[in-house]
Amino acid sequence: MEREHYDVIIIGGALWGGSTAFHLLTREPNLRICVIEKDASYKQSSSSLSVAGIRVLFSQPENVLMSMYGHEFYGDFGRLTQVDDTIEALHFVHQGYLFAANTPEQAREMEENYRFQLGMGCEVLLLDAKGVSERFPSLHTDDILCAAHSPNDGWIDPYGALMGLRRKAKSLGATYIEDEVAAIERRGARVESVTTTGGRTLTADWVVNTCGAWAPSVCAMVGMKVPVVPLPRMQFYFETQAKLEPLPLTRDGVGLGFRPEGVGYTSGITNHAAAGEFCWDVHYEHFDNVIWPKLATRVPAFEALKVKNGWAGHYAQNIFDGNMIIGPWTGELENFLIATGDSGHGLQHAPAVGRGLAELILDGRFSAIDLTAFTYKRVQENKPYAERGFRA
Ligand SMILES: Cc1cc2nc3c(=O)[nH]c(=O)nc-3n(C[C@H](O)[C@H](O)[C@H](O)COP(=O)(O)OP(=O)(O)OC[C@H]3O[C@@H](n4cnc5c(N)ncnc54)[C@H](O)[C@@H]3O)c2cc1C
Repeated sequence: MEREHYDVIIIGGALWGGSTAFHLLTREPNLRICVIEKDASYKQSSSSLSVAGIRVLFSQPENVLMSMYGHEFYGDFGRLTQVDDTIEALHFVHQGYLFAANTPEQAREMEENYRFQLGMGCEVLLLDAKGVSERFPSLHTDDILCAAHSPNDGWIDPYGALMGLRRKAKSLGATYIEDEVAAIERRGARVESVTTTGGRTLTADWVVNTCGAWAPSVCAMVGMKVPVVPLPRMQFYFETQAKLEPLPLTRDGVGLGFRPEGVGYTSGITNHAAAGEFCWDVHYEHFDNVIWPKLATRVPAFEALKVKNGWAGHYAQNIFDGNMIIGPWTGELENFLIATGDSGHGLQHAPAVGRGLAELILDGRFSAIDLTAFTYKRVQENKPYAERGFRA
Protein backbone atom coordinates (compact mmCIF):
# COMPACT_ATOMS: atom_id res chain seq x y z
CA MET A 1 0.00 0.00 0.00
CA GLU A 2 1.27 3.47 -0.86
CA ARG A 3 1.94 5.59 2.20
CA GLU A 4 0.48 9.08 2.49
CA HIS A 5 3.26 11.65 2.32
CA TYR A 6 3.16 15.24 3.59
CA ASP A 7 5.62 18.10 3.76
CA VAL A 8 4.73 18.59 7.42
CA ILE A 9 2.84 16.44 9.89
CA ILE A 10 1.66 18.33 12.98
CA ILE A 11 0.73 16.09 15.90
CA GLY A 12 -1.78 17.85 18.17
CA GLY A 13 -4.31 20.11 16.49
CA ALA A 14 -5.34 22.61 19.17
CA LEU A 15 -4.08 26.21 19.42
CA TRP A 16 -0.36 25.62 18.95
CA GLY A 17 -0.84 23.05 16.19
CA GLY A 18 -3.53 25.11 14.45
CA SER A 19 -1.39 28.23 14.61
CA THR A 20 1.54 26.34 13.10
CA ALA A 21 -0.59 25.08 10.20
CA PHE A 22 -2.01 28.59 9.71
CA HIS A 23 1.38 30.30 9.63
CA LEU A 24 2.94 27.69 7.33
CA LEU A 25 0.11 27.84 4.81
CA THR A 26 -0.18 31.61 4.92
CA ARG A 27 3.43 31.81 3.80
CA GLU A 28 3.57 28.74 1.53
CA PRO A 29 0.10 27.89 0.19
CA ASN A 30 1.35 24.82 -1.71
CA LEU A 31 2.62 22.94 1.33
CA ARG A 32 1.00 19.60 2.03
CA ILE A 33 0.18 19.73 5.73
CA CYS A 34 -1.47 17.09 7.85
CA VAL A 35 -2.69 17.83 11.38
CA ILE A 36 -3.34 14.72 13.45
CA GLU A 37 -5.61 15.38 16.42
CA LYS A 38 -6.77 12.55 18.64
CA ASP A 39 -10.01 14.20 19.77
CA ALA A 40 -11.80 16.69 17.53
CA SER A 41 -14.14 17.61 20.40
CA TYR A 42 -11.10 19.09 22.20
CA LYS A 43 -12.84 18.49 25.51
CA GLN A 44 -9.60 17.82 27.38
CA SER A 45 -7.32 20.15 25.42
CA SER A 46 -5.90 23.02 27.47
CA SER A 47 -6.92 25.30 24.65
CA SER A 48 -10.65 24.76 25.34
CA LEU A 49 -10.30 24.93 29.12
CA SER A 50 -8.15 28.03 29.29
CA VAL A 51 -8.76 31.26 31.18
CA ALA A 52 -7.41 32.85 28.01
CA GLY A 53 -5.71 35.90 29.50
CA ILE A 54 -3.32 37.98 27.42
CA ARG A 55 -0.81 40.15 29.24
CA VAL A 56 2.39 42.01 28.64
CA LEU A 57 3.33 41.59 32.30
CA PHE A 58 6.37 39.36 31.83
CA SER A 59 10.02 39.85 32.75
CA GLN A 60 11.68 38.30 29.70
CA PRO A 61 11.80 40.04 26.31
CA GLU A 62 10.76 36.89 24.41
CA ASN A 63 7.59 36.49 26.49
CA VAL A 64 6.68 40.17 26.16
CA LEU A 65 7.26 40.14 22.40
CA MET A 66 5.21 36.95 22.00
CA SER A 67 2.37 38.54 23.99
CA MET A 68 2.55 41.64 21.80
CA TYR A 69 2.15 39.44 18.75
CA GLY A 70 -0.71 37.67 20.56
CA HIS A 71 -2.40 41.06 21.01
CA GLU A 72 -1.90 41.92 17.34
CA PHE A 73 -3.04 38.53 16.05
CA TYR A 74 -6.07 38.02 18.29
CA GLY A 75 -6.95 41.71 17.86
CA ASP A 76 -7.30 41.15 14.11
CA PHE A 77 -8.52 37.56 14.38
CA GLY A 78 -11.81 37.96 12.52
CA ARG A 79 -10.09 39.23 9.39
CA LEU A 80 -7.11 36.88 9.60
CA THR A 81 -9.20 33.75 9.95
CA GLN A 82 -12.26 34.67 7.91
CA VAL A 83 -13.52 31.83 5.72
CA ASP A 84 -16.21 32.88 3.24
CA ASP A 85 -18.84 34.63 5.36
CA THR A 86 -17.75 33.06 8.64
CA ILE A 87 -15.98 35.48 10.94
CA GLU A 88 -15.02 34.16 14.37
CA ALA A 89 -15.83 36.68 17.11
CA LEU A 90 -13.25 36.30 19.85
CA HIS A 91 -14.90 38.82 22.19
CA PHE A 92 -11.53 40.30 23.16
CA VAL A 93 -12.24 42.05 26.48
CA HIS A 94 -9.60 44.73 27.08
CA GLN A 95 -10.32 45.11 30.77
CA GLY A 96 -6.67 44.92 31.81
CA TYR A 97 -4.51 42.88 34.16
CA LEU A 98 -3.64 43.76 37.73
CA PHE A 99 -0.77 42.03 39.52
CA ALA A 100 -0.74 43.00 43.21
CA ALA A 101 2.38 42.53 45.36
CA ASN A 102 1.90 41.63 49.02
CA THR A 103 5.50 41.23 50.22
CA PRO A 104 8.57 43.50 49.95
CA GLU A 105 10.29 40.87 47.79
CA GLN A 106 7.33 40.76 45.37
CA ALA A 107 7.18 44.57 45.32
CA ARG A 108 10.89 44.86 44.50
CA GLU A 109 10.56 42.38 41.62
CA MET A 110 7.43 44.11 40.37
CA GLU A 111 9.18 47.48 40.28
CA GLU A 112 12.11 45.99 38.35
CA ASN A 113 9.74 44.27 35.94
CA TYR A 114 7.79 47.50 35.54
CA ARG A 115 10.90 49.41 34.46
CA PHE A 116 11.78 46.61 32.04
CA GLN A 117 8.23 46.53 30.61
CA LEU A 118 8.25 50.30 30.08
CA GLY A 119 11.53 49.90 28.20
CA MET A 120 9.87 47.28 26.00
CA GLY A 121 7.14 49.77 25.09
CA CYS A 122 4.41 48.09 27.17
CA GLU A 123 1.41 50.01 28.38
CA VAL A 124 1.79 49.52 32.14
CA LEU A 125 1.32 51.56 35.31
CA LEU A 126 2.83 51.01 38.74
CA LEU A 127 0.20 51.83 41.36
CA ASP A 128 0.31 52.13 45.12
CA ALA A 129 -2.57 50.83 47.26
CA LYS A 130 -4.38 54.17 46.99
CA GLY A 131 -4.05 54.13 43.20
CA VAL A 132 -5.51 50.62 43.12
CA SER A 133 -8.51 51.48 45.28
CA GLU A 134 -9.22 54.65 43.29
CA ARG A 135 -9.44 52.59 40.12
CA PHE A 136 -11.01 49.48 41.62
CA PRO A 137 -12.93 50.43 44.77
CA SER A 138 -14.26 46.92 45.36
CA LEU A 139 -10.76 45.52 45.96
CA HIS A 140 -9.41 45.29 49.49
CA THR A 141 -6.02 46.99 49.27
CA ASP A 142 -4.66 47.27 52.85
CA ASP A 143 -2.16 44.46 52.23
CA ILE A 144 -1.10 45.62 48.74
CA LEU A 145 2.35 47.20 48.60
CA CYS A 146 2.20 48.01 44.90
CA ALA A 147 0.52 46.74 41.77
CA ALA A 148 1.31 46.53 38.08
CA HIS A 149 -1.69 47.48 35.96
CA SER A 150 -1.73 46.94 32.20
CA PRO A 151 -5.03 48.46 31.09
CA ASN A 152 -4.95 47.23 27.49
CA ASP A 153 -4.47 43.55 28.38
CA GLY A 154 -7.45 41.25 28.64
CA TRP A 155 -8.92 37.93 27.62
CA ILE A 156 -10.62 36.22 24.72
CA ASP A 157 -12.90 33.28 24.02
CA PRO A 158 -10.41 30.37 23.80
CA TYR A 159 -12.74 27.95 22.02
CA GLY A 160 -13.45 30.58 19.38
CA ALA A 161 -9.71 30.97 18.82
CA LEU A 162 -9.27 27.22 18.50
CA MET A 163 -12.16 26.84 16.06
CA GLY A 164 -11.20 29.90 14.03
CA LEU A 165 -7.65 28.68 13.50
CA ARG A 166 -8.79 25.15 12.67
CA ARG A 167 -11.37 26.35 10.15
CA LYS A 168 -8.90 28.72 8.50
CA ALA A 169 -6.07 26.16 8.35
CA LYS A 170 -8.45 23.69 6.70
CA SER A 171 -9.60 26.29 4.20
CA LEU A 172 -5.96 26.98 3.33
CA GLY A 173 -5.50 23.30 2.53
CA ALA A 174 -4.47 21.54 5.76
CA THR A 175 -5.77 17.99 6.12
CA TYR A 176 -7.09 17.29 9.62
CA ILE A 177 -7.20 13.65 10.66
CA GLU A 178 -8.91 12.55 13.86
CA ASP A 179 -6.59 9.83 15.11
CA GLU A 180 -3.97 9.29 17.78
CA VAL A 181 -0.28 9.02 17.01
CA ALA A 182 0.98 5.85 18.67
CA ALA A 183 4.50 5.52 17.26
CA ILE A 184 7.12 7.48 15.39
CA GLU A 185 9.72 5.67 13.33
CA ARG A 186 13.15 7.20 13.09
CA ARG A 187 16.13 6.27 10.97
CA GLY A 188 19.40 7.75 12.16
CA ALA A 189 19.02 11.49 12.58
CA ARG A 190 15.67 11.63 10.77
CA VAL A 191 12.09 10.89 11.59
CA GLU A 192 10.57 8.88 8.75
CA SER A 193 6.96 8.20 9.54
CA VAL A 194 4.24 8.27 12.16
CA THR A 195 1.78 5.49 12.88
CA THR A 196 -1.63 6.00 14.41
CA THR A 197 -3.86 3.86 16.58
CA GLY A 198 -6.26 3.85 13.62
CA GLY A 199 -3.66 1.91 11.63
CA ARG A 200 -2.41 4.69 9.35
CA THR A 201 1.25 5.18 8.53
CA LEU A 202 2.16 8.59 7.13
CA THR A 203 5.54 9.90 6.05
CA ALA A 204 6.70 13.50 6.12
CA ASP A 205 9.67 15.78 5.59
CA TRP A 206 8.98 17.39 8.96
CA VAL A 207 7.17 16.18 12.06
CA VAL A 208 6.04 18.72 14.66
CA ASN A 209 4.89 17.81 18.17
CA THR A 210 2.39 20.32 19.58
CA CYS A 211 0.65 17.98 22.00
CA GLY A 212 0.66 20.28 25.03
CA ALA A 213 0.66 18.32 28.27
CA TRP A 214 0.76 15.07 26.24
CA ALA A 215 3.85 16.16 24.29
CA PRO A 216 6.29 14.33 26.60
CA SER A 217 4.76 10.97 25.64
CA VAL A 218 5.09 11.86 21.94
CA CYS A 219 8.70 12.95 22.55
CA ALA A 220 9.30 9.59 24.24
CA MET A 221 8.35 7.88 20.95
CA VAL A 222 11.64 9.18 19.51
CA GLY A 223 13.60 8.75 22.75
CA MET A 224 13.53 12.44 23.71
CA LYS A 225 13.05 13.31 27.37
CA VAL A 226 11.55 16.72 28.16
CA PRO A 227 11.10 18.23 31.64
CA VAL A 228 7.39 18.83 31.08
CA VAL A 229 4.55 17.33 33.13
CA PRO A 230 0.80 17.89 33.33
CA LEU A 231 -0.16 20.34 36.07
CA PRO A 232 -3.85 19.93 36.95
CA ARG A 233 -5.68 23.17 37.57
CA MET A 234 -9.26 23.51 38.80
CA GLN A 235 -11.19 26.51 37.61
CA PHE A 236 -14.58 27.72 38.87
CA TYR A 237 -17.30 30.00 37.59
CA PHE A 238 -19.44 31.95 40.07
CA GLU A 239 -21.96 34.76 40.15
CA THR A 240 -22.79 37.43 42.70
CA GLN A 241 -25.71 39.82 43.11
CA ALA A 242 -23.30 42.67 43.89
CA LYS A 243 -22.77 45.23 41.16
CA LEU A 244 -19.02 45.85 40.84
CA GLU A 245 -17.00 48.12 38.60
CA PRO A 246 -15.43 46.41 35.55
CA LEU A 247 -12.55 44.51 37.13
CA PRO A 248 -9.30 43.49 35.46
CA LEU A 249 -7.85 39.98 35.55
CA THR A 250 -6.47 40.23 39.06
CA ARG A 251 -3.63 38.19 40.58
CA ASP A 252 -2.30 38.77 44.04
CA GLY A 253 0.78 37.61 45.88
CA VAL A 254 -1.02 34.71 47.57
CA GLY A 255 -1.65 33.11 44.16
CA LEU A 256 -5.33 33.97 43.80
CA GLY A 257 -6.44 34.75 40.25
CA PHE A 258 -9.88 35.86 39.07
CA ARG A 259 -11.48 37.75 36.25
CA PRO A 260 -14.93 38.66 35.03
CA GLU A 261 -16.59 36.11 32.76
CA GLY A 262 -19.94 36.96 31.18
CA VAL A 263 -22.30 38.01 33.95
CA GLY A 264 -20.09 36.38 36.60
CA TYR A 265 -16.46 35.64 37.39
CA THR A 266 -13.98 32.80 37.03
CA SER A 267 -11.30 31.92 39.54
CA GLY A 268 -8.62 29.36 40.33
CA ILE A 269 -5.34 28.93 42.17
CA THR A 270 -2.38 27.11 40.65
CA ASN A 271 -0.99 24.45 42.95
CA HIS A 272 2.52 23.85 41.62
CA ALA A 273 2.95 20.96 44.07
CA ALA A 274 0.30 19.04 42.07
CA ALA A 275 2.47 18.94 38.92
CA GLY A 276 3.10 15.41 37.67
CA GLU A 277 -0.05 13.52 36.71
CA PHE A 278 -3.28 14.16 34.84
CA CYS A 279 -6.22 14.60 37.21
CA TRP A 280 -9.67 15.53 35.93
CA ASP A 281 -11.41 15.69 39.32
CA VAL A 282 -13.17 18.87 40.35
CA HIS A 283 -13.39 19.34 44.11
CA TYR A 284 -15.96 21.93 45.02
CA GLU A 285 -14.71 21.85 48.61
CA HIS A 286 -11.44 23.25 47.22
CA PHE A 287 -13.42 26.28 46.13
CA ASP A 288 -15.23 26.54 49.47
CA ASN A 289 -12.18 26.01 51.68
CA VAL A 290 -9.31 27.51 49.72
CA ILE A 291 -10.47 29.85 46.96
CA TRP A 292 -13.55 31.47 48.42
CA PRO A 293 -11.88 32.76 51.63
CA LYS A 294 -9.16 34.36 49.52
CA LEU A 295 -11.72 35.83 47.11
CA ALA A 296 -13.75 37.29 49.97
CA THR A 297 -10.60 38.83 51.45
CA ARG A 298 -9.62 40.48 48.17
CA VAL A 299 -13.18 41.51 47.18
CA PRO A 300 -15.43 41.76 50.25
CA ALA A 301 -18.51 41.68 47.98
CA PHE A 302 -17.55 38.07 47.11
CA GLU A 303 -18.63 37.05 50.65
CA ALA A 304 -21.95 36.33 48.93
CA LEU A 305 -21.61 34.34 45.73
CA LYS A 306 -22.95 31.25 44.03
CA VAL A 307 -20.70 28.72 42.31
CA LYS A 308 -22.31 27.60 39.06
CA ASN A 309 -19.66 25.46 37.41
CA GLY A 310 -16.19 23.99 37.76
CA TRP A 311 -13.74 22.19 35.49
CA ALA A 312 -10.23 20.82 35.47
CA GLY A 313 -7.62 21.43 32.81
CA HIS A 314 -3.87 21.05 32.64
CA TYR A 315 -0.87 23.24 32.08
CA ALA A 316 2.01 21.62 30.20
CA GLN A 317 4.29 22.63 33.04
CA ASN A 318 7.99 22.96 32.36
CA ILE A 319 9.41 21.93 35.73
CA PHE A 320 12.91 22.96 34.61
CA ASP A 321 12.28 26.73 34.35
CA GLY A 322 8.57 27.43 33.70
CA ASN A 323 8.95 28.50 30.07
CA MET A 324 8.10 26.84 26.77
CA ILE A 325 10.48 24.57 24.89
CA ILE A 326 10.38 25.24 21.18
CA GLY A 327 12.47 23.98 18.29
CA PRO A 328 14.63 21.01 17.37
CA TRP A 329 16.47 18.35 19.33
CA THR A 330 19.80 19.67 18.14
CA GLY A 331 22.44 17.04 17.49
CA GLU A 332 19.89 14.19 17.50
CA LEU A 333 17.06 14.70 15.02
CA GLU A 334 17.05 16.99 12.00
CA ASN A 335 13.38 17.05 11.10
CA PHE A 336 11.50 16.76 14.41
CA LEU A 337 10.35 19.95 16.12
CA ILE A 338 8.62 20.34 19.44
CA ALA A 339 6.66 23.10 21.15
CA THR A 340 5.45 22.34 24.66
CA GLY A 341 5.87 23.51 28.26
CA ASP A 342 3.48 26.47 27.99
CA SER A 343 3.36 26.52 31.81
CA GLY A 344 -0.02 28.23 31.83
CA HIS A 345 0.72 31.15 29.52
CA GLY A 346 0.53 29.52 26.13
CA LEU A 347 -2.75 30.76 24.71
CA GLN A 348 -1.41 34.29 24.33
CA HIS A 349 1.78 32.87 22.81
CA ALA A 350 0.11 30.48 20.35
CA PRO A 351 0.37 32.92 17.41
CA ALA A 352 4.10 33.45 18.05
CA VAL A 353 4.71 29.71 18.53
CA GLY A 354 3.08 28.89 15.20
CA ARG A 355 4.95 31.65 13.42
CA GLY A 356 8.26 30.59 15.03
CA LEU A 357 7.83 26.94 14.03
CA ALA A 358 6.92 27.99 10.49
CA GLU A 359 10.11 30.06 10.35
CA LEU A 360 12.22 27.10 11.50
CA ILE A 361 10.73 24.90 8.77
CA LEU A 362 10.80 27.47 5.96
CA ASP A 363 13.89 29.53 6.81
CA GLY A 364 15.90 27.30 9.14
CA ARG A 365 15.91 29.95 11.87
CA PHE A 366 13.71 32.22 13.97
CA SER A 367 13.29 35.66 12.49
CA ALA A 368 10.32 37.75 13.73
CA ILE A 369 11.17 37.00 17.38
CA ASP A 370 14.42 35.27 18.28
CA LEU A 371 13.27 32.34 20.43
CA THR A 372 16.68 30.68 20.61
CA ALA A 373 16.69 31.15 24.40
CA PHE A 374 13.62 28.88 24.59
CA THR A 375 15.06 25.94 22.64
CA TYR A 376 15.81 22.52 24.12
CA LYS A 377 19.51 23.40 24.14
CA ARG A 378 19.12 25.16 27.50
CA VAL A 379 17.83 21.90 28.99
CA GLN A 380 20.72 19.92 27.52
CA GLU A 381 23.15 22.49 28.91
CA ASN A 382 21.32 22.73 32.23
CA LYS A 383 20.89 26.50 31.91
CA PRO A 384 17.39 27.41 33.17
CA TYR A 385 15.89 30.60 31.79
CA ALA A 386 13.07 31.55 34.14
CA GLU A 387 10.68 34.46 34.55
CA ARG A 388 11.02 36.73 37.58
CA GLY A 389 7.83 37.58 39.40
CA PHE A 390 4.37 36.00 39.34
CA ARG A 391 3.95 32.60 37.75
CA ALA A 392 0.78 31.62 35.88
C1 LIG B 1 -7.21 26.31 33.52
C2 LIG B 1 -6.24 26.90 32.54
C3 LIG B 1 -6.06 28.28 32.50
C4 LIG B 1 -5.16 28.84 31.56
N1 LIG B 1 -5.06 30.19 31.49
C5 LIG B 1 -4.28 30.76 30.54
C6 LIG B 1 -4.24 32.16 30.39
O1 LIG B 1 -4.90 32.90 31.12
N2 LIG B 1 -3.46 32.68 29.40
C7 LIG B 1 -2.70 31.88 28.58
O2 LIG B 1 -1.99 32.41 27.73
N3 LIG B 1 -2.72 30.54 28.72
C8 LIG B 1 -3.49 29.96 29.67
N4 LIG B 1 -3.53 28.61 29.81
C9 LIG B 1 -2.64 27.79 28.98
C10 LIG B 1 -3.14 27.65 27.56
O3 LIG B 1 -4.47 27.23 27.54
C11 LIG B 1 -2.25 26.63 26.85
O4 LIG B 1 -0.93 27.09 26.92
C12 LIG B 1 -2.58 26.43 25.39
O5 LIG B 1 -3.93 26.13 25.22
C13 LIG B 1 -1.70 25.31 24.84
O6 LIG B 1 -2.18 24.90 23.59
P1 LIG B 1 -1.60 23.57 22.95
O7 LIG B 1 -2.13 23.51 21.59
O8 LIG B 1 -0.13 23.52 23.15
O9 LIG B 1 -2.13 22.40 23.91
P2 LIG B 1 -3.56 21.68 23.96
O10 LIG B 1 -4.63 22.66 23.81
O11 LIG B 1 -3.59 20.85 25.19
O12 LIG B 1 -3.54 20.77 22.69
C14 LIG B 1 -2.78 19.60 22.58
C15 LIG B 1 -3.55 18.68 21.64
O13 LIG B 1 -2.78 17.52 21.35
C16 LIG B 1 -3.69 16.43 21.21
N5 LIG B 1 -2.93 15.18 21.36
C17 LIG B 1 -2.28 14.74 22.47
N6 LIG B 1 -1.65 13.58 22.24
C18 LIG B 1 -1.90 13.27 20.93
C19 LIG B 1 -1.50 12.19 20.09
N7 LIG B 1 -0.71 11.19 20.55
N8 LIG B 1 -1.95 12.16 18.81
C20 LIG B 1 -2.75 13.18 18.34
N9 LIG B 1 -3.14 14.22 19.10
C21 LIG B 1 -2.72 14.28 20.38
C22 LIG B 1 -4.70 16.67 22.32
O14 LIG B 1 -5.91 16.00 22.09
C23 LIG B 1 -4.85 18.19 22.28
O15 LIG B 1 -5.94 18.63 21.50
C24 LIG B 1 -4.41 28.00 30.71
C25 LIG B 1 -4.60 26.61 30.76
C26 LIG B 1 -5.50 26.07 31.66
C27 LIG B 1 -5.69 24.58 31.68
